[in-house]
Amino acid sequence: MAQFGPVRAMTARYDVEGVHDLDVYLEHDGYEGLRAALDMTPDQIIELVKDSGLRGRGGAGFPTGMKWSFVARDTGKPVYVVCNADEGEPGTFKDREYMERDPHALIEGMIVAGLALESVQGYIYLRGEFAFAGRRLRDAIRQAYDRGYLGEDVMGSGKRYDLTLHRGAGAYICGEETALLDSLEGRRGQPRLRPPFPATHGLFGCPTTVNNVESIATVPFLLRHGAAWFRQWGTEKSPGFKLMCISGEVQRPGNYEFALGTPVSEMIEAAGGMLEGRELSFFCPGGSSTPYLPASDADVPYTFEDIQERGSLLGTGALMVYSTQTCIVDATLRFTEFYEHESCGKCTPCREGGYWLSQILHRIEHGLGREEDLQLLLDICDNVFGRSFCALGDGMTSPITASLKHFREDYEQHVAQGRCPKGVTPPTPREPVLSVATDAAGFQKGERP
Ligand code: SF4
Repeated sequence: MAQFGPVRAMTARYDVEGVHDLDVYLEHDGYEGLRAALDMTPDQIIELVKDSGLRGRGGAGFPTGMKWSFVARDTGKPVYVVCNADEGEPGTFKDREYMERDPHALIEGMIVAGLALESVQGYIYLRGEFAFAGRRLRDAIRQAYDRGYLGEDVMGSGKRYDLTLHRGAGAYICGEETALLDSLEGRRGQPRLRPPFPATHGLFGCPTTVNNVESIATVPFLLRHGAAWFRQWGTEKSPGFKLMCISGEVQRPGNYEFALGTPVSEMIEAAGGMLEGRELSFFCPGGSSTPYLPASDADVPYTFEDIQERGSLLGTGALMVYSTQTCIVDATLRFTEFYEHESCGKCTPCREGGYWLSQILHRIEHGLGREEDLQLLLDICDNVFGRSFCALGDGMTSPITASLKHFREDYEQHVAQGRCPKGVTPPTPREPVLSVATDAAGFQKGERP
């Protein structure tokens, strides 16, 4: 019988003082997963991860064991394991805390992944702003080298594994795996055309797997306890536990750990419930690029399949909670400005679409919107979604299309009243907000939308 609700599995060591230090980590089952992996063949490790049903925790939710099985190990080229620690999705802050508190768990997972993929070199691509996590990882890697967990002879097994910590420069797009690889190679971080996929042509043109911090840090637990242990939580299609970042208008925002399948409403309660006097209006289930869901969907079990059925995505596990006091147009404008700013500019729909969408939302929020602006927003989203080079373009449209689907009335009130009906002060636009006279094309000569 599957279990749901709060879990202390990955976060069990959060209460242990000084567990970032190797000696303390060893006292709390540290490197026991690696010890077990050293007695297994690469195929056995991959099968175990497959059996567990672990799905990627970075956003896409692709099964980790399956991803590893696609990596070409027989080409004669080196195989690389890359950890995506470029956590940048608004609302997401679980990986950073995990690396700060329990850095050896990530290192252990990287070595196990290396054994599974017959790789002798791994990279952790860390978000540049994570200075403290960077220091913690740097010190932990040094300790692991000094004590024989990394280097020429991993735990006396005769097997080699090297691990390099690489700090990014703070671009959201470098969380996209192929942009991350370009950045790691020293190029400008922009997504690559696929195929070929990283499993055959990844870092330096060699077979590569790119996995999220949480995905990799979960693997040593699978080695220690087995696939059945992991499956005691969650559902058939979404087994196990998940780190959750709960933020917004709740009493105790922060990182939590839950079994997948726990209802969103229970998660909000675990975070202390709504702020006093506030009533839930909508929530973002998995970070800013996952479509909003209304309060009536708060009973949804937090699984990949259930959230998708309601019209959104589980994403990174960043639950952002909003009350009826929040202006959804303002919230959407702020997300859209983020995507406009973070667009890498490689493709036209995303580069230009982000600018136009921001302009129109500013116009509406500043009381200069027109009735036809609502359809114009949807038309532009239609020309960005599915027509952009990478998922950033698609993610940019999610807040807009979802808010218009569930809260169109709020937009209409902005237009009809010529102001934000909730009295929210909109952010200062980078350019003057122009009033636009209505014409058939929705544009006025000389003015951009
Ligand atoms: Fe760059 Fe946006 Fe195109 Fe992605 S969708 S390649 S971020 S311009």
